[in-house]
Amino acid sequence: MDSSEITYSEIKSVFRECFNIKNKSEVMNMSSLIHNRKYATEITADNDGEQVSIAGWVHEKRHLGGVFFLIVRDLSGFAQVTLHKHKGGVEQELFERVKKVARESVVTIEGKVKSEPKAPNGYEIIPERMEVLSEASQILPLDTTGKVGAELDTRLDARFMDLRTERTKHIFIIRSQVLKAIRDFLDERGFIETNTPKIVSAATEGGTALFPISYFEREAFLNQSPQLYKQMLMASGFDRVYEIAPIFRAEEHDTTKHLNEATSVDIEVAFVSDKEVMAILEELIAFVYSKVGGYPGLAKLNWELEVPKIPFRRITYDEAIELLSEAGEEIEWGEDLSTSAEHTLGEIIGELYFITDWPCAIKPFYAQPVDVGVKGKRKDICNAFDLMHPKVELASGSQRVHSYELLKRNIESKGLSADSFEFYLDAFRFGMPPHAGWGLGVERLLMSMLGIDNIREVVLFPRDRRRLAP
Ligand code: ATP
Ligand code: MG
Repeated sequence: MDSSEITYSEIKSVFRECFNIKNKSEVMNMSSLIHNRKYATEITADNDGEQVSIAGWVHEKRHLGGVFFLIVRDLSGFAQVTLHKHKGGVEQELFERVKKVARESVVTIEGKVKSEPKAPNGYEIIPERMEVLSEASQILPLDTTGKVGAELDTRLDARFMDLRTERTKHIFIIRSQVLKAIRDFLDERGFIETNTPKIVSAATEGGTALFPISYFEREAFLNQSPQLYKQMLMASGFDRVYEIAPIFRAEEHDTTKHLNEATSVDIEVAFVSDKEVMAILEELIAFVYSKVGGYPGLAKLNWELEVPKIPFRRITYDEAIELLSEAGEEIEWGEDLSTSAEHTLGEIIGELYFITDWPCAIKPFYAQPVDVGVKGKRKDICNAFDLMHPKVELASGSQRVHSYELLKRNIESKGLSADSFEFYLDAFRFGMPPHAGWGLGVERLLMSMLGIDNIREVVLFPRDRRRLAP
């Protein structure tokens, strides 16, 4: 058992943060099934002599001569329940029962607190009552103590159980905090949260394959991103919108940074250019880092977070291929950056950075070409950017084309049919302000922020080429 337990008040503050719970009694009401239930780390040695009830999972059982230790685990941490064999009475009867309870069974324990410096959180409970609410099978798919490691696939097959381990639990509490921080940040800046359809007709932005689905007598698709819809909302007068939702990509990649169902934070802002939305993005990233940096559960991931300094470094696409060339990696102008090129650049730069001024040919039709009037700028370059972590791309964005004619020409020049984009193009014919936006992968942000190598670790139930269950 490690001594760096997270205190109840820390867990409570996470609850408050995550669920906006105002006071302790509301937290307690969530567990009205067990009268006056306390979390393991809510109890301390100061409660010596008090009667308490706890509820949780049987984490460990230890039999040492005439003493039996039952370690009960709950959301907050661990409580030690101590039974003596030869005490007679209730304790004797309990001793016989507790011995037989399978690990990971769900139990409630009622008893007296006794100060015990050697126990987790400095106390033990001398039980008077125990109830088994749900008996676990003897053979467990995973070890929850962290003593026996398991392959990621085995962990994902038994994800409900994997979530009982400290490390995985904290990853998902952090994920919840990250999403909350993103919403807080954007709400604070006057953004409206929106929900756009995930079932769409044919029109694809290109760049990725879609998942076809059967939609009554027609074919439909799972949306690759809210791009077209969030842009259409710019014609609504909403000015600043965001969406946090799944995106679906049918690419057959089997990599550690791709999922077939991912979560994207998308924003779109009217009357601004790419420069303003880049500033929003870097401020948002720094804000999220600062929020998560204060979370004590980070220690369980053996990770320390340094809040990145803003503004992030900006390099142009041309500078990127120049740096790569100096490092011996040749990229022809107009080619996209491979994963290996991204890694090489990441090693050279070593911090979060933007790549700007991309060739239009490798950016989508909605990316705005630079103003040809700007001295020294070429018209085959777009006001598009990628936000890069040294290990992985985090976000892509751009200033958008808002001219109906140019947009239509761009769609056609990418070999797509303007007819199938009619619903989208229409929004550009009746008053569309200039606008810009980006899409940020939630899982990419989490994995890079927490130093986690495989993206599947930060999704509860990941979907990849081979995995459709659980
Ligand atoms: P990559 O080149 O890294 O595959 P992309 O350029 O195809 O990503 P975009 O279309 O720019 O991705 O999507 C915006 C963001 O959404 C990406 O920067 C990334 O953070 C996230 N994202 C895109 N595709 C995936 C995926 N398959 N799995 C997880 N995250 C993704
Ligand atoms: Mg991209």
